Amino acid sequence: MADRNRRDEEFERKNAEARMEFLLSLRSRGIRDLKVLRALEQVPREIFVEAEHANVAYADQALPIDCGQTISQPFVVATMTEALDVGPQHKVLELGTGSGYQAAILGMLAKWVVTIERYRTLADLASARLRVLGLKNVTVRVADGSFGAPDEAPFDRIIVTAATEAVPSPLFDQLADNGRLIAPVGPKAGVQALRLFTKSGGKIDHLDLMSVRFVPLVEGKAVAL
Ligand code: SAH
Repeated sequence: MADRNRRDEEFERKNAEARMEFLLSLRSRGIRDLKVLRALEQVPREIFVEAEHANVAYADQALPIDCGQTISQPFVVATMTEALDVGPQHKVLELGTGSGYQAAILGMLAKWVVTIERYRTLADLASARLRVLGLKNVTVRVADGSFGAPDEAPFDRIIVTAATEAVPSPLFDQLADNGRLIAPVGPKAGVQALRLFTKSGGKIDHLDLMSVRFVPLVEGKAVAL
């Protein structure tokens, strides 16, 4: 018991140090928006990773999660969140819940978040974590996110966290005017461009921010899992 307490204390101490370094390194790499940094500070990434990876939760790397998927690299989460420029009045759609980490960050910043995952196992785990954090403004759905959430549209912000060669057109239809959409666009196996789309007067423009590697967007709801 005493041993276990010592191990827990040791974990907490190292974890607190790692969290501090994590924030400093995001700042030094160019993440400047204080509300984004605050959200990253407040959401404990260690509860979104497998227990065996809790000790590297604040390393800047993607990590494997259930169903052969990954939780994205924190710098990419920070960059996407900052580029989306999410405000407290915004309704946000996420395609690709995965661990629920990005959804939690969005939940700290937005009014309302709908996040869609094709694996029930992941959706259930993510919902449980969001509940633990008291994020009642985030709803997780099990569906093929390519169709968006037409019953909740329009969305002020849309984020796609799975690689796609072309952003599914329903997502553009469900984007509000003056809205922003961010997605990794490119080959499903390989490197994609992190592309920020803006909609203005019904017209879509885009800007490529950096190269990224995401797991692919897959059509259809996953069976059994
Ligand atoms: N945003 C996540 C990481 C996403 S990994 C996080 O913060 O952890 C990409 C996720 O997209 C995977 O969980 C995958 O199952 C899901 N996905 C892929 N295609 C999908 C689709 N068509 N509809 C919904 N989810 C999809």
